[in-house]
Amino acid sequence: MRKLLLVWIPVALLALFAVLLGRTLLVAPPAPAAPAAASEADTFDGEVIARRLAEALRFRTISWQEGAAPADVDASQKALVAFRDWITTTYPAFSAQASREIVNDYSLLFTWKGSDPVLAPYLLMSHMDVVPIAPGSEPDWTHPPFAGDIADGYVWGRGTIDTKAGIIGQLEAAEALIRAGFRPKRTVMFAFGHDEETGGQGNARIAALLAERGVRLEFVDDEGGVIVTGTVPGIEGPVAVVGVAEKGYLTVQLRAHSPGGHSSLPLPIAETAIGRLAQALEKLARAPFEGRIDGVSREFLQQLMPYMSFGQRLAIANLWLLEPAVLKSMSASPASAAILRTSIAPTMVQGGVKENVLPPSATLTINLRVHPRDTTESVLAHIRKAVGDPQVDIGAVGVRREASAVSDMQGPQFALIRRTLERVKPGVIVAPNLLSAATDARHYEALTRNVFRMVPAELTADELKGFHGTNERVPVSSLVLIARYYRELIRGADGEL
Ligand SMILES: [Zn+2]
Repeated sequence: MRKLLLVWIPVALLALFAVLLGRTLLVAPPAPAAPAAASEADTFDGEVIARRLAEALRFRTISWQEGAAPADVDASQKALVAFRDWITTTYPAFSAQASREIVNDYSLLFTWKGSDPVLAPYLLMSHMDVVPIAPGSEPDWTHPPFAGDIADGYVWGRGTIDTKAGIIGQLEAAEALIRAGFRPKRTVMFAFGHDEETGGQGNARIAALLAERGVRLEFVDDEGGVIVTGTVPGIEGPVAVVGVAEKGYLTVQLRAHSPGGHSSLPLPIAETAIGRLAQALEKLARAPFEGRIDGVSREFLQQLMPYMSFGQRLAIANLWLLEPAVLKSMSASPASAAILRTSIAPTMVQGGVKENVLPPSATLTINLRVHPRDTTESVLAHIRKAVGDPQVDIGAVGVRREASAVSDMQGPQFALIRRTLERVKPGVIVAPNLLSAATDARHYEALTRNVFRMVPAELTADELKGFHGTNERVPVSSLVLIARYYRELIRGADGEL
């Protein structure tokens, strides 16, 4: 018997190896798409688009948090009105063709009517508002955030990538197409929100308005995806990460109770309020949310696999056997871990007012980003079970939002986004992504299964820090790319979908 086993183990291993290898070798890179014709590429002038974006940046359309000074709020509202007038005068052909509705006083909905009313319209989105400059960070800006400076191949300023570049790209594309005599068969809508950074009531209202009118959308394309290079481990070339879903948002407060008392005669540490919180946190650290390679993360890896090293391909082509190893390696980095599971971040602790008094209570605040496979309710239940201490009260506080639906990654609408990206950026790898941040696109879930997030600015890791950060800027070359993307998308959407 023992002898028989010794013969069979190598044979079985060999067979297993053959299966692993076979599955790996089946993976071949797809043929590259035909690029947009060279003559078409030259119809957009980066300098001109840069100058228009620079003008757009000078409107200080800042979204202030609740409780901001009335003068600041008033200035932002005036800027939004001036900006929408600027759109009318700067893009006259578009303004003549598309009807404009002002929703919730400041958000804009444009409808560029197609010739075929049978075809469902689609919606291009971008928001007009920008986040404030972090107080004290002004001197760190190489160029003032609202000056609209163009230098060193960039347009600098708050709102460049988040996301006036998207608005300008869409308007440039439509204006150029109209001037060239193009009339769409399929109706194109544009929604420019005025308060995305503070919850997006403008787009919530536009979505409700469209629903009231019985509109079904073919697809939506909003911000929330860019082209990155060198940030995906093992991949050298550019990767366009298209957002197909966004995580939910939940803040949980844990309040531990204890008799308190004088610190000279303390309770055992584990029975003090602070000790109870420490134990709760320790238990949570040992009970992370379940991570799996499924849905978006599986599709993300599938798309990148052909371009990976042999070792990576071997692992991903054989997830049936090697998923635990892939999970472990992806969990090591916060960026790739985020796509796998609900994240837990302890962000605030409070307890005690004096060094020699045991506090009767102490609180710990945890911020969680909820994976689409979880709900805020199941997340709360998981935390309660993991902590399991009747002396610790656990409850949700503040903003609470479920994860979005996951858009269809196999349909013709995603294929159109993919094809368009491959046309305007030959050699780009297109992969779906799960966003940890929120966008206004989520408001349109009820109107279509095809909510995508992509404004194809090509950004390095350093340039990505500009989102809500210092020295926000966009390469002028990306402005041409973005305009070409929307132009090709509008043309492509008139084909079979
Ligand atoms: Zn944004």
